[in-house]
Amino acid sequence: MGAFDYPASPHQRRHGPQGYASVLSYRPWLRDEFTFRCVYCLIREQWGRVTGEFDVEHFRPQVSRPELGVTYDNLLYACHSCNLLKGAKELPDPSQVLTVETVRVNPDGSVEGRSPDARRLIAVLGLDSNSYRRWRSVWMRNVELAEEYDQEHFRRLMGFPDDLPSLDQSPPANTRPEGVQQSWYAKRQRAELPDSY
Ligand SMILES: [Zn+2]
Repeated sequence: MGAFDYPASPHQRRHGPQGYASVLSYRPWLRDEFTFRCVYCLIREQWGRVTGEFDVEHFRPQVSRPELGVTYDNLLYACHSCNLLKGAKELPDPSQVLTVETVRVNPDGSVEGRSPDARRLIAVLGLDSNSYRRWRSVWMRNVELAEEYDQEHFRRLMGFPDDLPSLDQSPPANTRPEGVQQSWYAKRQRAELPDSY
């Protein structure tokens, strides 16, 4: 599993909380849903300070679709810089169009879109800019060196955060209640959590 491997297939939501008044109440669900990574650039919570670095992103922008402001299926987990660049633009859904098939990540840190939607997202978000290439190549090397020389450090970089959200606080409604048992927290309780992902 590489540092920048996009998901194997389009994302199918496991969770369906509904009815929270505040968008922030959905945050723990989104962290779990999208495995503690930005859906656009794949930066991981474990690579930074977390606080202030990740946002709840409105896929259909609030300016044009205010009625979807607290609708879970319209929310994504994104880093602050991708969220800023995405802004109020109408773009393809990254959770559906960025997959291992449609995004080729090269050893020099550059990325190539292999579908029109993936190419559009890469272009609009600048995911193949020089600074992103450099950032990606630095992290690919960090992970490679850690894997070779320091397994504990590798697990810190590529493993799960300690504060897995328990998701046991019942939301007002949940269209996919079975997802709670599939959460990373529940997997850790059952000793099924992988060392890295
Ligand atoms: Zn990002």
